[in-house]
Amino acid sequence: MLRYFTHPVTHFAQNCSIVYDDGTLQAAIIDPGGDIDRLLAAIAGKGLKLEQIWLTHAHIDHAGGTAALAQRLQLPIIGPHPADQFWIDALPQQGAMFGFPAVDAFQPTRWLQDGDTVELAGHVLHVRHCPGHTPGHVVFHSPEMGRAFVGDVLFAGSIGRTDFPQGDHATLIASITQRLWPMGDETVFIPGHGPESTFGAERKTNPYVRGT
Ligand SMILES: [Zn+2]
Ligand SMILES: [Zn+2]
Repeated sequence: MLRYFTHPVTHFAQNCSIVYDDGTLQAAIIDPGGDIDRLLAAIAGKGLKLEQIWLTHAHIDHAGGTAALAQRLQLPIIGPHPADQFWIDALPQQGAMFGFPAVDAFQPTRWLQDGDTVELAGHVLHVRHCPGHTPGHVVFHSPEMGRAFVGDVLFAGSIGRTDFPQGDHATLIASITQRLWPMGDETVFIPGHGPESTFGAERKTNPYVRGT
């Protein structure tokens, strides 16, 4: 069975999630923004074998630990969408600006496109391209778990910022309504920051997308 746990990292309290098969113990990590030693200790504590890095987007708090982790364990880097290349290139500057230890850029092993899938231990997650917060933002949906890992697209009670370069409010709202809502009201989402919620609850109460 596919399971996951979430471990907040960096001073942005970014929800890094570890998805794993509870039989084979194969694991993938979503958005290792930093605090790699703490993440690896948590992963080792559950006896998991980390095999892949999946990225929603290339902001520092989500992708800052990617290069170091990939190099240390020789892991493939999967995602985000190629439109986030400029954010990847800017990781060293992002790190310096926001008080991170030295951060390297990296080259994804595999870019992701809308409609792609990623696979872990025979379990398939669906990839949707959800631009607006960043142009290359993707989300990972597991119908099997009824969960979506949505990064900074949607939060409980809020939505992602759109005041960064190539951010766009209307594009973000379209991503949410056209690519997240079809996953179903009962789907639980794990946002990049803060508590989990369901798409149905946000459609009722989130002031940015209420009634959509
Ligand atoms: Zn972000
Ligand atoms: Zn974030």
